[in-house]
This record gives sequence, structure tokens and C-alpha cells, in this order.
Amino acid sequence: MRYLITGGAGFIGSHLAEALLAQGDRVHILDDLSTGSIDNVRHLKKDAGFEYTIDTCASPSIVAELVDEADIVYHLAAAVGVDLIIDSPVRTIETNVHCTEVVLAQASKKKKPVFIASTSEVYGKSKDLPFREDGDFVLGGSSTGRWSYACSKAIDEFLALAYWKERKLPTVVARLFNTVGPRQTGRYGMVVPTLVQQALAGRPLTVYGDGRQTRCFCHVDDVVRALVDLMALGDPAYGEVFNIGSQEEMSILELASRVIELTGSDAEIHMIPYEAAYEAGFEDMPRRYPDVTKIGHALGWSSTHTLDEILSDVIQFHQAEASVV
Ligand code: UDP
Repeated sequence: MRYLITGGAGFIGSHLAEALLAQGDRVHILDDLSTGSIDNVRHLKKDAGFEYTIDTCASPSIVAELVDEADIVYHLAAAVGVDLIIDSPVRTIETNVHCTEVVLAQASKKKKPVFIASTSEVYGKSKDLPFREDGDFVLGGSSTGRWSYACSKAIDEFLALAYWKERKLPTVVARLFNTVGPRQTGRYGMVVPTLVQQALAGRPLTVYGDGRQTRCFCHVDDVVRALVDLMALGDPAYGEVFNIGSQEEMSILELASRVIELTGSDAEIHMIPYEAAYEAGFEDMPRRYPDVTKIGHALGWSSTHTLDEILSDVIQFHQAEASVV
């Protein structure tokens, strides 16, 4: 099979490319390197099945040509990371909405199945836990910048499902819950790489709010396995939305302590109010916990890596990076 991965030089995209090449498929990635990095895929260049185009997926002509050569499209290119969303809201909204429009429009002309990456962020402030795919989105007002990300991804979902209903374009949507692992950068605010890098450098670990907010962190290898199997499933997955996440829930304060323990760091934990970390009026989710029954039934999927395994992998990655610099 031939795959096109937009955002293929990003954290998740590069792991997906690696997995597809390992099973003997051909992979073409399209990435503008705005948040991704060629370092993430440098090791794939020697694989005869690997090709790449450094350009934007906002260009209909480029996307049309690459879609034409592919059997299946993974659309992962997006602006992600809470810091990026707060600092560059125009870019977030435009990238997330416009690129998805272009990819779906071009794929539709050739009837190529498309995977659309969405996010647990769309559940917003909902208290209806665990979050189920048919649950309500509970978002704040437009003056709070963070919600633009959830709204832009919600539009992507609506559009993907509309293409399926109205134009019979096979589309699959997955909502990813805090995916972590090697190659994820802390540059755009993600908590796990940020805390690990702080601990390794002996700098204070920054815990925002009261640290009691919880998340479930899922290893990128588990996520990639779900992505590969969902598109391999074909018909039963089309027009459907799936949660992908771990069910090991942990508070951010516990996470920071665990990082200190596993790195053997003597760094302290600094508690930082949300307003100082992000912006005035910032709203966080106190809990985020997925229901994964649907993907369990469809694929027999569940996450397999414990948080300690994930942290060990991330620590090892950053230790290796630091020794190269
Ligand atoms: N967070 C933190 N310290 C950091 C970065 C993030 O305490 O240096 C918190 C953040 O406020 C949120 C959680 O960690 O409550 C997860 O943040 P992340 O940006 O990784 O993902 P989110 O779940 O918010 O999309």
C-alpha cells in the first residue's frame, strides 16, 4: 500500500511512517517543518519506500498530486500544543481548518480514504466522564483563546463526517488523548517532555495550577498501532469517530514527582498559577479520561504501556539527545 502522511515529520507522524515502512508499505510525507523536524525522519531516508515533500498542505495542487499517488491518506498536519494555540491563534485556526478542507477536497476527487486526527480537547469542560464519542462538547467562550483549538478540530470532524455522509468519501476520525513518547518536543508546552527536560537539567519542574488536574498519557507506539489498524479495518471504521487513549489517570503533581524519582533528579517542584503560565482567564480541564470501549470492540485495541514505561522511554530519549548536543 502507498500512504500519504501530512505532518509526517511531526512527533506522531514520524512514528506512523516508521511503522508503515516496517510492514513493507510505501510512505510519502508532506510537512512544512513548522513544528515538525527533519531530524524526526532522517533515519527513514535510507528506506527505498520513503519519500518526502517539504511544503504546505494548504496548497491544493501539491496535495492533489500526492493524493493521486497514494492509496490511503493520514491527515496529521495541525497546529498543536497549548502554548502555540495561545501565542499564535491565527495560525492555529487557519492551519487546522484550511489544511483539512484542502486534504478532504482533494481526496474526495479520487475517493481515497482519509484518516483525520482530532483531539480529546473537543470534550472541553464536560464533566460527563469517562468521555464517550457520542458525548457533548462543552466549550468556553471565544474570548478564551484555548477553545479555538477545540473548535477548529471540531470543524475538522464535522467536515470529515459530512464528506462521508454527503459525498461517500471514506473518512475515519480519531480523538487522541495526550499522546506522549520519544521525539515529542516540549517547545509548545506539552507537559511530559517539559518536566523530563527540566528534571534532567536540574531546573525546577513547573506544575501549573494546583497540580490536581489529571490526564491519561498514552504511548505513541500504542496510538500508532490504533491508527494503522483503524485504516486497515476499512468499511466498519468509515464515518466513525474513535477515542484513542490510556486509562491510567494521574495528576500533574504526581507526574512531576514520578519524573523526579525516575530521573534521580534533585530538582524542586515549582507551583505556578495558570494566569502566569498562560494568560489571564485561562481555563484548564480538571480531568480528562477516555472511554475506549468503541475502539476495543472494533479492533481489540487497548493501550499496553504503563506510565512508568512511557516516562522511561522519554527520559532515555532526552538523555540521548543531551549527550549528542
Ligand atoms: N502543565 C504543567 N506544567 C507544564 C506544562 C503543562 O503543569 O510545564 C499542565 C497543563 O496546565 C495541563 C497538563 O499539564 O493541566 C497537561 O498539559 P499539556 O499541555 O501537556 O496537555 P493538555 O492536556 O493541556 O492538552
